[in-house]
Amino acid sequence: MPRTFFIVYAGLLGAVVGSFLNVCIYRLPRQCMSILRPGSRCPRCRTPIRWYQNIPILSYLALGGRCATCKAPISLRYPLVELLTGLIFAAIAMDVLVVPGPFPTSNEIGRFFANSTLVAMLLATTIIDLDHRIVPDEISLSGLVIGFVFSLLLPSMHGTGLISGSEHLGAFLSAALGAGAGAGVVFAAGLLGKLLFKKEAMGLGDVKLMAMVGAFLGWKFVLLAFLLACFFGSIFGIVLRLVTRDQYIAFVPYLALGSAVMLFWGHHVLGFVSRHVLRSIPV
Ligand SMILES: [Zn+2]
Repeated sequence: MPRTFFIVYAGLLGAVVGSFLNVCIYRLPRQCMSILRPGSRCPRCRTPIRWYQNIPILSYLALGGRCATCKAPISLRYPLVELLTGLIFAAIAMDVLVVPGPFPTSNEIGRFFANSTLVAMLLATTIIDLDHRIVPDEISLSGLVIGFVFSLLLPSMHGTGLISGSEHLGAFLSAALGAGAGAGVVFAAGLLGKLLFKKEAMGLGDVKLMAMVGAFLGWKFVLLAFLLACFFGSIFGIVLRLVTRDQYIAFVPYLALGSAVMLFWGHHVLGFVSRHVLRSIPV
């Protein structure tokens, strides 16, 4: 029962975090706005939104998707981001529970917070990139630091680590190596794209974003996340380009998707690749 409670709690927490992500998605690209102040207002009539009108998903339903004062329609995106974040957080809670027993272990709870932090930042970055075609440093660089801190506190994020002796230091080094690998592969791909296609293929924002992912996932997973992103991008990107005829292909959503796949199914992907692709090379 406490395990079920943990999963339900994770889902509710996710809905609240999703509500905060909505604020970040709106305000971070608008440099002059603070994340914390002022409180949320209706974008049309500027009426402050009261706390009971700001309950994730439920308030949107209760208000019928309209501002309580001026009846301006509220974007359906707000409750959808809250719902999606809630569902993903619940899925992460189920994913990290591996040790049988009535209660989640402290390690499992730590993994939950690390994984859901990464996913929340990837989700916000994806939507900001789709809207404004930028990756805010506020997310990628602070995410990089947060990834290092989590690695120091929670060495199990990086398996056995690189060096014996101090597993915390080992995990920290694994995070540093992961950040370098993530940044390096995107930077190299960007240079290659520039040489081949004579135009900007990857931005510095993508480099910093994958440094952050590498600090959480380590070098093997971040490299595979990048390969998955290229795979998803080439499939969906071609279809999207034919449909929308848009010259710009946002790459952040694919980077985020590849990273999320590695977060949930990384060991399966790594196993598949080492069995079928790298059979002769020990991984
Ligand atoms: Zn209003």
